[in-house]
Amino acid sequence: MTNDDGVYAPGLKVLRDFLKERFEVIVVAPQGERTGISHAISLKDPVRLWEVEEGVWACDGTPVDCVHLALKVLLSEPPDLVISGPNNGPNMGEEIFYSGTVAAALESSILGIQAIAVSVAARRDHFYETAAQVALKLIEKLSSNPLPPRVILNVNVPNVPWEFIGGFKLTRPSRRVFNNYVVEALDPRGAKFYWIGGKEPVFVLEEGTDAHAVANGFVSITPLRADLTAYDELEKINCGV
Ligand code: MN
Repeated sequence: MTNDDGVYAPGLKVLRDFLKERFEVIVVAPQGERTGISHAISLKDPVRLWEVEEGVWACDGTPVDCVHLALKVLLSEPPDLVISGPNNGPNMGEEIFYSGTVAAALESSILGIQAIAVSVAARRDHFYETAAQVALKLIEKLSSNPLPPRVILNVNVPNVPWEFIGGFKLTRPSRRVFNNYVVEALDPRGAKFYWIGGKEPVFVLEEGTDAHAVANGFVSITPLRADLTAYDELEKINCGV
């Protein structure tokens, strides 16, 4: 397991405690919050790794660093699955690109280990136990039906008790509405400052999208891969080549 909310994040503890009753679980997570760090990797600075309790490792790098250290340094054999999360807050639509949670899962898939990214669609009063039930269902499924190589599942869980979950929906990412994305305000000395992403994201609630599924009480599952090629445009783009 890893995350981008840090090794002491409450969600990580709930999911780890739930899973370690059933599986061997190793955690390698950033020492503090790295939300919005996306796919960053530490190339110019050293990274350190230390054990905070048995089977739980902190790292002073990014979520992607954690994946590398786990898979290339700590673990003597490859894990069956990497779970990133459960994140405090949704990772839907174009927000996927900022997400350290999703990036850690994508990096695992690039390194040949199947992975899921799990996020809870709320910023407070989380039902992380619901995310744990969702993760268990997916683990059971993936143990008999592994993911295709280099494909991850980006899972967004509505913030409700497990019994209120309507089911699972396969989705595509929604489009984000960038209203009031940059908030302008005055600091205590009267100088202007800006807060990027200051407001809660709003998504276009089209049928078939992650945000639509979550808004209707379904767990959203979007298969993703770290390949941004616009395949449908490959033959059509004409730029003189
Ligand atoms: Mn986060």
